[in-house]
Amino acid sequence: MKHFLLICFSMALVLASCGPAKSTGNDLAVNNPIETSINLTEVKDDKVPVMINPGRITLDTVVFRLPRVVQGTYAISDFGSFIEDFQAIDYDGKELRSKKIDTNTWVIYEAANLEKIHYWVNDTFDVESTGQAAPFSPSGTNIEEDNYVLNLHGFIGYFDSLKSNSYVLDVTAAAEFDRTSALQQVEEVVSEDGKVVTTRYQATRYFDITDNPMMYGKLDVEEFMVGDIKIVLSVYSPNKIHSATSLKETMFKMMEAQKNYLGDLNSTERYDIYVYLAGKNAGAPTGFGALEHHTSTVVVMPESMPKEGLEKQLIDIVSHEFFHILSPLSVHSEDVHYFDYNQPTFSKHLWMYEGLTEYFANIFQIDQGLISEEEFYNKMMNKINTASSLDDTMSFTEMSENILEQPYARNYYNVYQKGALIGMCLDIILREESNGEVGILSVMKELSAKYGTDQPFDDDKIIEEIVAMTYPSVGEFFDNHVIGGTPINYSKYFEKVGLGINESKIETNYVQNAGKMIVRGDREAGVVKFNDQVVNNSFWNEAGAQPNDIIKNIDGEEVSMENANAVFGQVFGWKPGRDIRVILLRDGEEVLIEKTLTTSYTMGELLGRNSDITEAQQALLEKWLKG
Ligand SMILES: [Zn+2]
Repeated sequence: MKHFLLICFSMALVLASCGPAKSTGNDLAVNNPIETSINLTEVKDDKVPVMINPGRITLDTVVFRLPRVVQGTYAISDFGSFIEDFQAIDYDGKELRSKKIDTNTWVIYEAANLEKIHYWVNDTFDVESTGQAAPFSPSGTNIEEDNYVLNLHGFIGYFDSLKSNSYVLDVTAAAEFDRTSALQQVEEVVSEDGKVVTTRYQATRYFDITDNPMMYGKLDVEEFMVGDIKIVLSVYSPNKIHSATSLKETMFKMMEAQKNYLGDLNSTERYDIYVYLAGKNAGAPTGFGALEHHTSTVVVMPESMPKEGLEKQLIDIVSHEFFHILSPLSVHSEDVHYFDYNQPTFSKHLWMYEGLTEYFANIFQIDQGLISEEEFYNKMMNKINTASSLDDTMSFTEMSENILEQPYARNYYNVYQKGALIGMCLDIILREESNGEVGILSVMKELSAKYGTDQPFDDDKIIEEIVAMTYPSVGEFFDNHVIGGTPINYSKYFEKVGLGINESKIETNYVQNAGKMIVRGDREAGVVKFNDQVVNNSFWNEAGAQPNDIIKNIDGEEVSMENANAVFGQVFGWKPGRDIRVILLRDGEEVLIEKTLTTSYTMGELLGRNSDITEAQQALLEKWLKG
């Protein structure tokens, strides 16, 4: 997954106090599909009715859960907290005794009499929009008149003992709705009056339910081929500001470049991109970014972003999600493979799953000519700057393994920063050792061929294995900077390819100074303020903004912690020439800034070719950047 602009990202970090999962043994007599249904025509108060029929159960008690954690998020989601009016019903239509034993778990007694379970599901976007703890929105759910984000793990639960049973899912919805899903469709039944359609899908096991999100409602859908992959782009833009048609060209160019970059790699026949663009209405989600699945990704971004800014962000974010097909979707450890949605254990290798993925999402853009050399260097320097505000001495393997707990959880964002830089250094080391021939992509492709989707690696052995495949210097780097907590001296690696870092005037945007945020959320006061960095941003400095000024209103919109990500997502996309009107609060007095945007600069570290770059360095640089 990937987060975009983290201003006030909040998530439940308190570990629920539930004991180890109880083993219910293997004494279920039958292995029928679990029949489930979601009815979008019977929504009440933004809640959807869900029915689960497990077939005949031969146990006295059975445990039913909704996921506490879903794959790819590395945080607690507690989907059980969105379930209401849980009822277990017997074959005579009477309610059976059941007990909710924790946020996500129900025990059903006299389970041999259980015919079905019925409950109502509340959506997560609504809860997130009020500032309460909620799942990261790309993994969340939306129930709204004209849009349904069906991340199915938020609707459909599992029985501890039946996780490998197949599932049948009926989704009933208005016939006028568009619908996209990568889940295998079995049949479609239209009501007599033609107004309602029930679509039947099937999934081979619970994992496939969680791995195949759907979108229903008034969507805009475009399909196109990239090589032999069919791309299905579904866009929901509540105010019709963007559309699948307007974003298609960018997505096509990006996916084509990714495919060229990856070369011969077994991939999927179809890949779905679900883009939910959040408006400014009540109930709109506030956490932006995306979450990966094997054959799809769900992206949530602010609708108000200008087209060019949104396209740039979509390239960074969607390409990241697509590169996840290498890892963890293909190359992963047992922790990922045998994922427990209630009490997961975590792999030590977020440097690979998120770090390398993020690195590939950057290097492929220069490799394939989507961005200039200068833009690529700036992206890497931004990562170095952002990483400097996080704990640089924390062991990455230790952080990964304990990612739900503090102080590790609050450093999670570093997987996209230092994690990507770890990938960059490994790539440079490999290029240097192999005379430019081999890079980190080759290593990952080799691992993918060896392991692949169906075979996990041993979490404690994979680094040794990579070192054995490559060079001792790679092992040294892992020991010092991935397992160990020694900060990386990036100049040492840049020097190998003839690059140097120099203090210089750098063009920047209106939210960051070359990657360093200039605003911060004050959670207690519920406001967003400029921080000390604001004086180093030429535009805001000249406009008279000062540290600790509260940003009260931007272009007529009141700024709060709840809408901060949306508002500053828009500011992030501002371009010179735009007229802005910003009201600040300084010591209780309003300060008005009414100006036309000029290009903003900051003093910072600029990465570029050294004037005395040698031929050998230049050759290695070319191999690194252009394969
Ligand atoms: Zn990711």
